[in-house]
Parts: sequence; structure tokens; C-alpha cells
Amino acid sequence: MSGRRVSLPAELSATLRQVFPDADVERVEVIEHSWVLRWHPRAAATTRRGRIYLRGSAAQFFADADFVLHEYFHVLRQWEPGRLTVWRYVLEWLRRGYWLNPFEVEARAFAAGQRKRFEWLLAQQRMRSAEDGLALVQAAGDPGEQGAEGEARPG
Ligand SMILES: [Zn+2]
Repeated sequence: MSGRRVSLPAELSATLRQVFPDADVERVEVIEHSWVLRWHPRAAATTRRGRIYLRGSAAQFFADADFVLHEYFHVLRQWEPGRLTVWRYVLEWLRRGYWLNPFEVEARAFAAGQRKRFEWLLAQQRMRSAEDGLALVQAAGDPGEQGAEGEARPG
């Protein structure tokens, strides 16, 4: 009913830390299936200081680079420094509507500019995790191979 807090997948968290190096990415709460979206009938997400509320699932959100960059930008670059407040957002929304709201224009531009880099960094993180996984499997060991190495040692 009131939504569920979801933790960031490790690779995504590492990637966001590279995109927002001076921010505490892990402190941002992501809440899926949030009731807060009742008040925003056409939005897929809404943000507050330290929070991202999603209408849908976190899995869907995490799979969409543009969406992730956009919402984290609102939280880390607009809410966090105090530039974005509910009052300012509503004021701009009344003046210019959703699409031309400067907070939205800025978040869209950031996401568009960072998307390629973000996807590349995320792919690197995933590759690294896969390699770590493989190394673990190899370390767990093939007894035959370890035996062969033992035999090669002198003495
Ligand atoms: Zn937005």
C-alpha cells in the first residue's frame, strides 16, 4: 500500500558513484509502487529530498538509463543543494508547464548528455562483477589443476 524501499544493485550503485562522484548515492531511497504517485496521475516517478518514488517496479526503473539519470539528477543536483523545493517546482510548473519547467529541462539535458557514458561505465561494472564471479569459481578450484601445479614445484 505505502510502497516498498528497494536497494540499488551493486553495479548500478558503483556506476552512479562515478557519475556523481561528490554525492552519497546510497543515501537516496528508491520506493517502488509508491502511493505518492496518486497525486501525479501522469508521472512515472516523482522526487523529494533524498527520495525517488516510482509508480512501477524498481526493476523497470533500474533497467532504464535515461530514467535513472534523470531522477538521480533531480535528487542529487537539485534537491540536495536546495535549489529545488516543492514551492519552486510548482511555481515553474504554473509558469511554463511540465515540459518547459527549467528543473525538467536541466534533468533531461543531463540524462541525454550522460547516457552513453553511464551505459559504458555500467557495462564495465558488470564485466568486472562477472570476472570476480569467474575468479571465485576458479579459486574454489579444480583439484586436478592444483595437483599439476604441485608436481611442477621442485622438492
Ligand atoms: Zn523530472
